[in-house]
Amino acid sequence: MSEPTPPKASPSEDRERPVAPSQIDRRGFFRGAAALTVGGFGAATELAAPEAQTTVAAPISADAVQRLETQTQSALRWIGRDPADWVRPRAGVDHNVVIVGGGQSGLSIAYGLRRKGVGRVEVIDRAAPGEAGIWRSIARMHQLRTPKTLAGPELGNAALSFRAWYETLNGTTSFDTLDRIPRTAWADYLDWFQQTTGTTVRYRTRLLEIEPQGDLLRLHLEQDGARRTVTARKVVLANGYAGAGGPNVPEFIRALPSNLWTHTTGNIPFESLAGKIVGVVGAGSSAFDAAAVALENGAAEVHLFSRRAYIDYPAPPGPAPAQAPPPAPAPERGYPNLLEQSYELPDVVRWRNFVLGDRRVASVPFDSLQRAVEFDNFKIHLNSSLSDVAAAGNQLTGKVGSKSFRFDHLIAATGYRIDLAAQPELARIHEAIALWGDRYKPEAGEENGAGASHPYLGAGFEFLPRGSAGAEYLRNIHCFNLGAALSFGIPVGDVPSVVDQPRLLTAIARDLYVEGIDTAANKRFVDAPLSAPSSAPYDKAVATREVA
Ligand SMILES: Cc1cc2nc3c(=O)[nH]c(=O)nc-3n(C[C@H](O)[C@H](O)[C@H](O)COP(=O)(O)OP(=O)(O)OC[C@H]3O[C@@H](n4cnc5c(N)ncnc54)[C@H](O)[C@@H]3O)c2cc1C
Repeated sequence: MSEPTPPKASPSEDRERPVAPSQIDRRGFFRGAAALTVGGFGAATELAAPEAQTTVAAPISADAVQRLETQTQSALRWIGRDPADWVRPRAGVDHNVVIVGGGQSGLSIAYGLRRKGVGRVEVIDRAAPGEAGIWRSIARMHQLRTPKTLAGPELGNAALSFRAWYETLNGTTSFDTLDRIPRTAWADYLDWFQQTTGTTVRYRTRLLEIEPQGDLLRLHLEQDGARRTVTARKVVLANGYAGAGGPNVPEFIRALPSNLWTHTTGNIPFESLAGKIVGVVGAGSSAFDAAAVALENGAAEVHLFSRRAYIDYPAPPGPAPAQAPPPAPAPERGYPNLLEQSYELPDVVRWRNFVLGDRRVASVPFDSLQRAVEFDNFKIHLNSSLSDVAAAGNQLTGKVGSKSFRFDHLIAATGYRIDLAAQPELARIHEAIALWGDRYKPEAGEENGAGASHPYLGAGFEFLPRGSAGAEYLRNIHCFNLGAALSFGIPVGDVPSVVDQPRLLTAIARDLYVEGIDTAANKRFVDAPLSAPSSAPYDKAVATREVA
């Protein structure tokens, strides 16, 4: 299984404290500006600079930076201080909540918990500072794939939104003129969001294993190469797309020498692919993005293999052709403004929606398609499954039907799998977790092995026990990653899934609140004699009884 490059350890850097917003390093803001000077697509290490990136935007002025800071400070003052931590401490517990993952989900959830008054929340990430999340590493597209107008991690606080950040730095019309959000601008915005919300992440800290201890969770961590354990009441797995089973690597690729192939979640050696023949297995967005970067780095030929008969893509930008408006979405598929209700759909509807999604051809953004197709040395092979793939020295050979191919490198753009048994941190407990295969029996003809392996989650993203008794600790592990896709009807971790975070926050707060209820203290409070304050302030107005 190909993994993203592990972070480098540095003993000198333990915990990265965000600076107060008033002290934010101005270079942080200007990194956005530098990116914008090349059209919003800043230099990511493995990306070449394609022609599409040459639109020059005005550099960001110091005034704009100051305006953003002033505006943000005002907004933070207007929403008021964070409530005091109301969670009753529990003996032997280090953290009320540990959030695993400091990407966009982890940052947003941490902010949401703070605004709910949940204290002693720890965010950990195995990555080094600046390397958490995907936006400066394995995301290779120029623009986010999702629409620019979606709600983001700001959780309703408009002054902390991407639009507020972007427009204040780049001018009031700048957001309107965007097609979608530039990828590196999104990465810069998330950095700013983290700094502005004062969210501390303990970097270079990997969760190795969750060990239940009664209803508590003992977490085995590796921090800068050293092992330690901490105890938490709640764990949120905000560990990304690969966090519930890892990348999906077909067996025939996994069996090849590891230097001859890379999954798209890995560090593809693009620079060494100049002049080489590259094969791409898969035809989703990541396949096209990886193909484009290989071509931009001078690959001699890139061959993309799709099992399907066509490539799906949304309508290209520009005026819509004269035709009838699209039909209203079926309520059973979920309305765009009501996505958070998808969890409430009956199992049979959630299951069928998943099966439909599994059957459909994944849609590729039009610009990602164009970016690769404009190269004459890019070939798409439809209805083509590679077979007989084998290593021959430093090359690979393979076949589609009777046609033979030779490659210097193969890129597996084959997505992710859901397989809790493959997650090291769940090694001790995965067998106790209820899966869809345990809880739902599909009708004949609707079986789906991939769906059956998804965890069957509770309404607060919590794992549920497989059996009718025991393993109650599972309810304290909240799965906010791709494993939640079937239960919540949406790829969890995506920007659209932010709408489901209030459920998670409410569930965590509810559990901690209810657990902290002290019935004896409540009785003492209710039984305490009521004492009236001094009547001095109103004495003179008190009517005296008239004497007859
Ligand atoms: C190539 C690609 C493009 C995408 N494009 C879009 C898009 O355009 N729009 C959209 O809405 N969604 C998109 N997504 C989906 C989703 O938005 C992103 O994956 C997003 O990064 C999810 O954020 P996250 O915080 O949930 O996870 P991530 O950003 O993946 O962050 C997870 C973090 O967890 C850390 N971690 C993992 N395991 C451990 C561990 N054991 N211990 C400690 N830390 C750990 C990782 O280091 C990482 O920093 C895309 C996904 C991919 C893969």
